[in-house]
Amino acid sequence: MLYTESMHWFFTVFFFIFGSLLGSFSNVVVLRMAINRSVIFPPSACPKCNHQLHAIDLFPIFSWLFLRGKCRYCKAPISVQYPLVESFMAIIICLSFFKTGLGLKFICLSSGMAIWFVVSTIFIRGEVLKHQPFIWAIIYSVALKYFLADENIFNMNFLLIAGLSILVGLIASIKNTKVEFTRWLCLAFLPFLYLPFSLYPYIAAISLLLASFNFSKTNSIKARWVFYVLQLGGILLNIYLTKTVLAFIEYVG
Ligand SMILES: [Zn+2]
Repeated sequence: MLYTESMHWFFTVFFFIFGSLLGSFSNVVVLRMAINRSVIFPPSACPKCNHQLHAIDLFPIFSWLFLRGKCRYCKAPISVQYPLVESFMAIIICLSFFKTGLGLKFICLSSGMAIWFVVSTIFIRGEVLKHQPFIWAIIYSVALKYFLADENIFNMNFLLIAGLSILVGLIASIKNTKVEFTRWLCLAFLPFLYLPFSLYPYIAAISLLLASFNFSKTNSIKARWVFYVLQLGGILLNIYLTKTVLAFIEYVG
């Protein structure tokens, strides 16, 4: 069957909706990880009035917009984090598909970027006091790179990246908790790993600068937000720089 441009658009919309559902699930994972609760049970409820939420309240992005950011039952405000995370995840998944089409490359790109986004969000919320999500994000990304790269990735550059990321983590955690070390190490490491090597000096300089701002209580929040926004930019840049494999263009164009 001929793969046409209209089919490509249809799948792009499909993956936008799929991505928003994945974003909705990520919200639940991030929140429940913070309070050490199961992801599956109990079902979602309003944190204020405890009213159990129904399917109509849980529709990604649109439920929040339709309810104007308030609980349907008690009118308590609902954090704007929910629709923002859902929207960004939707953008990650549908843009990854748009660039790569269906296939292994799509799965690798979208899963890598989704995990990068989830750990970044855990980082900015700052409630999860565990090292594991960050360590798993690094292990997954390194494995992904290792299996996809044509050459061995464990070279001098890799050692340089690892060393710089550890340095960023050490600086950021001097006056903070130990978890801060893993958080900053991970978010300094992932951009290094995914983005082109020519950007490395800039990434290193910015990461080290922001880590040093994390010292002072007054600048810490600003430094963390700038670091978070840079991660989101890095995710989009990596998807943008991924080579397009749109075979249908030859048919259509
Ligand atoms: Zn409520």
